[in-house]
Amino acid sequence: MFSAQLINNPFDDPGVYVEFRYKRRSILFDLGNLHHLSARELLKISHVFVSHTHMDHFIGFDYLLRICLGRDQHISLFGPPGFIKNVENKIGAYTWNLVENYTNTFTLDITELHEKHKRIRRYRCQSAFKPEVLADAEDFDGTLVVDRNDFTVKVAFLDHKIPSLAYSIEEKKHINIKKNALGEMGLPVGPWLGEFKDKILGGNPDDTLIEVWWKDKNKRISGKTFPLGTLKKKIIRITPGKKISYITDAVYNEDNARKIIELARVSDIIFIESPFLEKDAEIALKKYHLTAKQAGDLARMAGAKDMTIFHFSPKYKGRKDLLLGEAMKAFNQD
Ligand SMILES: [Zn+2]
Repeated sequence: MFSAQLINNPFDDPGVYVEFRYKRRSILFDLGNLHHLSARELLKISHVFVSHTHMDHFIGFDYLLRICLGRDQHISLFGPPGFIKNVENKIGAYTWNLVENYTNTFTLDITELHEKHKRIRRYRCQSAFKPEVLADAEDFDGTLVVDRNDFTVKVAFLDHKIPSLAYSIEEKKHINIKKNALGEMGLPVGPWLGEFKDKILGGNPDDTLIEVWWKDKNKRISGKTFPLGTLKKKIIRITPGKKISYITDAVYNEDNARKIIELARVSDIIFIESPFLEKDAEIALKKYHLTAKQAGDLARMAGAKDMTIFHFSPKYKGRKDLLLGEAMKAFNQD
């Protein structure tokens, strides 16, 4: 399960912090001003997904680096074409002559995403952040950025006069074991549960036989066999995975709209920028941003269950209800 929230007031730098409940892990969308996050929250971050490197989306890089320095953090960062150079320029702004004496293993893995390939560099504090080339032209399908046992992250390349990356994170479905039911059947917990879960995730038919085994007092292995379907019915509860999308800094055009709807399809929550009111659509177009109405329309067309808007233009200070009202009206339209 995860929970997600904006890291700043919607008039301030964009960014969403996603926390995995019951796990020591968080991920972050965008690296604007991070000062509202505590050191404890920042130290849980394992992955950062940057839309683009305009200052309001990237100035927090230094602060994250500062907090992580001297610790055993390992963070993977993802960003648009040019990202490696942006990171190297940031790192290159400081002097690192003493860090090789540090005993910690602070490491940054930087992935620069292009539509058909990706470039990956590793920077280790102990080697004074000298770049190590992990990949230079690795094939990339343009979509699937992270694919782990517990979650996946996908990307869409949007037009903001430069590429701006939108992301969605999706938790894989979770199989919970009902311990009471297990006890009632007189079955022990043990490594067989992992094999059983793998069989379910692998889509095996219900008549597949599952070996439930354990070691008795004399370390002899005993066991019983059950059909997969019987155990599924009695001892598990499946929690569907949550999906969160993060869409920022994109002009409204047909291509962007199609990509946003596809990426954010049936999100539990979509975070989508709404810098301008529809009456200022011309300014939005000129600045390559969305209006509140466009944001609401896109969220509705994607079938998102919930929507949070952000990245408000300062011209509406004191009038944010207008942006919220316009976006919500479009979102809730039949
Ligand atoms: Zn921006």
